[in-house]
Formats: sequence, structure tokens, C-alpha cells
Amino acid sequence: MVYKWLHNIQNTLIPGRCLLCQGPLKKKHSQFPGLCTNCTDDLPWNKTACRQCAIPMPWSGELLCGQCTKKAPPMVRTVAPLLYNDCTQHLVHKLKFTGKLAYADLLGNILADHLLQLPRNNLPEAIVPVPLHPTRQRERGFNQAHELARPVSLALQIPIDNQLIYRQHNTLQQSGLDVRQRRRNVRDAFRLTDRKLPLHIALVDDVMTTGQTARQLAMTCLKGGCRKVEVWICLRAGNISR
Ligand SMILES: [Zn+2]
Ligand SMILES: [Zn+2]
Repeated sequence: MVYKWLHNIQNTLIPGRCLLCQGPLKKKHSQFPGLCTNCTDDLPWNKTACRQCAIPMPWSGELLCGQCTKKAPPMVRTVAPLLYNDCTQHLVHKLKFTGKLAYADLLGNILADHLLQLPRNNLPEAIVPVPLHPTRQRERGFNQAHELARPVSLALQIPIDNQLIYRQHNTLQQSGLDVRQRRRNVRDAFRLTDRKLPLHIALVDDVMTTGQTARQLAMTCLKGGCRKVEVWICLRAGNISR
């Protein structure tokens, strides 16, 4: 509640400028908070994607990419409204490195809006933001995945649970590592607490590249008694699967 109240105050006091082009915002015309209509139209929407890993696909109609057909990943589905490009990378970097919540509000609302357009008959019981190691969270002052999860939790009325899983190793940043190094880097990175896991959860994070972090976390949850793990992320990086 306090979060929402602070946001309303902030939106009222600060004259609106688009977070991407800095142009003035016409409030009633913009679909998402902090973004003008032109920049919204120019966003790289992930329109046709693999159901399980959200990698962009060249055409619609196919449900799974070649890789997921060969070896099914542990998550039942991955939802990723946007692709990674200079604009979306800028939004995520601003969120991570300036800590300005306007960026989380924008990206989280884009994710929430996308989820609201999908069938809602079998929703998860809890939203689990991908945890940061406590040292990194202290340095950054917040967990961006948690900030992105807030608008999603509000829109879908699903509680956020940060008490189920923690990161036991302060892993290296995944960017700059190849697939094998990424896999090794996140192996055994996560541990479950002694709290009972819900049967169906959604992991929330900012970006998925190779998906190693999400896979590792999903596997840990499945081993811990969870039956169904989905992954909700803002941006999907990676080349089109053919
Ligand atoms: Zn703009
Ligand atoms: Zn796939």
C-alpha cells in the first residue's frame, strides 16, 4: 500500500517525461507508466515465441522450439513480452544501476499487462522473485526482480513470497559467460528454506538469456516438492530459434 501511495505521489509531483525519448507524456494516451505512445509502438514485442523457453520463433503456430522439443526444460512455460534490444537493455540497466523505481513500474506493468491478456484459469499460488545473494542485494539496496514482481502481484492478485528460496553463492554476473560457464556458475546456487513450497509458482526476473538461472531455480523448486514452475520475465535475449 505504501509503495502504491508513494508512486501516486511521485507521479503527481514529477512532470511526466518519457523514460526512453524524454519527450513530454500525455498521460491519458500512454498505455504504460513512463512511456510515450511512439516508444510503446517501437518496443520489440516478443510476438511469436516458444511456449516453454520464450525464445522468439520465426512464425506463429509452433508451440515449442527445437531445443525444448529435444529436451524439455523444467519450467512448464516462460512468458516474456519483450525482446532484448538497445531500448529495452537501457530500461533494465537504468533500473539496476540507478535504482529508480519508475523503470520497475514500467517494465513490471508491461509484464503484468501481457499476463492479463493470457488465459487466467490456472494461475500460480505464489510469485517468487529470483533472489539475489544477500551481499549483492545489500550493495544494490534492492532486488530488481522483486520490484518488477510488485505490479504483477497487484494486477494478478497473487502474493509475492521471498521466504522460500535463497541464493547461497554470490555467483558471477552471468553476462560475459558462455552457456557452459553460466551453467557451472549457477549450479547449486539456490537453496530452499524450510518453508513448504506451494505446488505451483511463478519465478520473476528481468532478463533471460540462456535460461540457466531459471532452469536451475526451477529444478531446485521441483526437487523441493513444487509440481509446476513457470517463469515470467520482462526481456528475452537470444537468437530466433529455427
Ligand atoms: Zn518516448
Ligand atoms: Zn523453447
